[in-house]
Amino acid sequence: MSFTIQNALIPVENGYETADVQVVDNCISAIAPNNPPFNSPAYQGGNPPSNSPPYQGGNPPSNSPAYQGGNPPFNSPPYQGGDRGGQTVINGKNKLLLPGFVNAHTHSSEMWQRGIIPPLPLELWIAELEDFTPLEPEQVYLSALGTAVETLLSGGTSVVDHLVLIPGQELETIAAAVRAYQEIGIRAFIGPLIQDESLTAGMPSGDRDIEHAAYIRSTKATLEFMETAIKQFHNPEKGVNMLVAPTGIQLRSDALFEGCIELSDRYNLCRHAHLLETSAQKQLADEKYGYSAVEHLQRIGYLSPRTSLAHCVWLDDSDIAIMAETGATVVHNPLSNLRLGSGIAPILKYRQAGVNVSFGCDGAASNDSQDLLEAIKIGSILHNITDLDYRQWITPRQSVEMASLGGAKGLNLADEMGSLTVGKKADFVLYDLTSLSLLPRTDPIGLLILGRPTNAVDSVWVNGKQIVAEGKVKTIDVDALRRELFDRSEWTSKRQSQTVSDIEAHYRKVMNLQGYS
Ligand SMILES: [Zn+2]
Repeated sequence: MSFTIQNALIPVENGYETADVQVVDNCISAIAPNNPPFNSPAYQGGNPPSNSPPYQGGNPPSNSPAYQGGNPPFNSPPYQGGDRGGQTVINGKNKLLLPGFVNAHTHSSEMWQRGIIPPLPLELWIAELEDFTPLEPEQVYLSALGTAVETLLSGGTSVVDHLVLIPGQELETIAAAVRAYQEIGIRAFIGPLIQDESLTAGMPSGDRDIEHAAYIRSTKATLEFMETAIKQFHNPEKGVNMLVAPTGIQLRSDALFEGCIELSDRYNLCRHAHLLETSAQKQLADEKYGYSAVEHLQRIGYLSPRTSLAHCVWLDDSDIAIMAETGATVVHNPLSNLRLGSGIAPILKYRQAGVNVSFGCDGAASNDSQDLLEAIKIGSILHNITDLDYRQWITPRQSVEMASLGGAKGLNLADEMGSLTVGKKADFVLYDLTSLSLLPRTDPIGLLILGRPTNAVDSVWVNGKQIVAEGKVKTIDVDALRRELFDRSEWTSKRQSQTVSDIEAHYRKVMNLQGYS
């Protein structure tokens, strides 16, 4: 796939510049100011030398490194888009080009339950979620498509799907999600959500001796199925990457974690999990280990530069030091943490300690959307109330870097994606700066992050392939998706979760809520 985006606004160190971005063989081959100095080297960002003579026209020498293929469009009249002598030219005028963001933690099939679960903390919310979880692979396919559409239209080019599996149809579940992501063309990272303990084991027991039911699948069977899934579906060249992803320190044995570490090493896969999302999980770790969950994960060898951990709300300073030392990534899911009352993750402390941080929407039943720009906005300004020193607050440009390069780092792909850099994959997004929500003209990135962008995404490319054009997804029939989601659901405001009724009294007791009516 080869093309040039002409006259796009790109951020540089001291502001913005208008540039042409050329893509050859799915990678960025050149980024050049549209009036580059003659003989200029490949432009890497930053201001061009101020004393260079302006380009006077004419074709640059054929060995100029600025353009590696095709006819350079330097002295051509402005293009409105279209094809020029075999080279596709995209008009980037009045549009902002940014690297694609990573939706670094979600559970796609939760889309079927968005908006319906009442305000509950995670441990009760998840009980209701599981009672009504989708049981057909076709539903998984449709909600993966829906998750991808919303991610793409809010600036994302990659999605990490911590995929809830249909019992007894585990491989079919993954196949359905893979089919959806390949059809739409988003870069997918699928971590089948695996556990080997039943739901009640995810709560602290307090002073009670609780018998937990055996989980539906043995640890050995789970690891065997994971290996089959990796062999069948892991295909980075085709945009599908498998992750190992136990649910978290809750609901799984050390044997499951150790098996996942072994698979991750053998197949060179990234690792993912939830980590200390709620105070109940911190309490559970105290009961299980007598020391911190983070220290436990370090001891068993799960933490590494290719490990990303969702939430990380209840870590203390020594836990944060371990995260920095091991190079693990924190995936910040601010909306889910607010929705479930989980707490405010110490994001500014992570950043000060040098821990990589990226953003996730989390599943749509705890958000209740997949708008990445919304998660980035809230996840940035939320922390202005946690630290009086405004010099530590996250700037809009830092937010963009966390969402793009931070996301890539968490997937061990910072060398391949996450910034507008020559040689990296062409995963990027053009925002329409004439959208009403991005007007009047001020600082484009400031308004994109701090404002409420609507219909702002004009075009999206993943691996050099255009997925979105003029604000519309081109690769799938979104109207047909809307019809399917409509036809397979119904309006309802009330439903009863039997499991919530069964476990609520215990939850209230261990969380010292029994005095409340
Ligand atoms: Zn999650």
